[in-house]
Amino acid sequence: MIDAGLSEKKLSGRMAHIERSFSGMDAVFATHEHSDHIRGIGPLLRKHEVPFYTTEGTWRRANNTIGKINSFNTIRQDEPVHFGGLSVEPYSTPHDAEESVAFVVRYQGKSLGIATDLGRVTPEVKSKLQNLDALLVEANHDVSMLEAGPYPWMTKKRIKSGVGHLSNEACGELLASVKHPGLKLVVLMHMSETNNHPDLAKITARQALGESSPEMILAEQNNPTELLSI
Ligand SMILES: [Zn+2]
Ligand SMILES: [Zn+2]
Repeated sequence: MIDAGLSEKKLSGRMAHIERSFSGMDAVFATHEHSDHIRGIGPLLRKHEVPFYTTEGTWRRANNTIGKINSFNTIRQDEPVHFGGLSVEPYSTPHDAEESVAFVVRYQGKSLGIATDLGRVTPEVKSKLQNLDALLVEANHDVSMLEAGPYPWMTKKRIKSGVGHLSNEACGELLASVKHPGLKLVVLMHMSETNNHPDLAKITARQALGESSPEMILAEQNNPTELLSI
């Protein structure tokens, strides 16, 4: 499991929905300390015995929120963690957090890249996301909706900054720079309910992907997606 911003109860419900459970789960990872990513982690780890993995910096900032847990395993950027044949490689993201990461996951020749909570697309992000089968990318906001919207000025400034969140346009630029014929699935993630509209996010991503048209799903905050396979 990567991040747990929902309550333990909600997560269990969503796991049951896709016929999965926490028993036997190999690991829970945290990308960074923002509460929409770690809120559910403490209760989850105290109820189920699942090993926890995050960076030193995230742990330093998150341990107050997470509370007492049995163990914590340190991960470092560019050092993959292995579970049988599955590898999970953290890479560094530009975000206003202590030591944030995102992940590339590989299993039996299939690969999946995650890129959420990043303010800009660095050359490193681009290189990590090349030639993957599936991409889970942030399409957080539409710039004009954000600018005209109700958020306080400082928050708007933070979101738009190079350590904030990816706009639809920035997401499109990322997709255009990593698209390839083998890309089968794109999931648009971390979409703001206030500063974005699903159609805008989808249209921008579709235009960026051009003729290579992988399946595209939009992940919603309040509804689980179906179980997807690649
Ligand atoms: Zn977030
Ligand atoms: Zn964040």
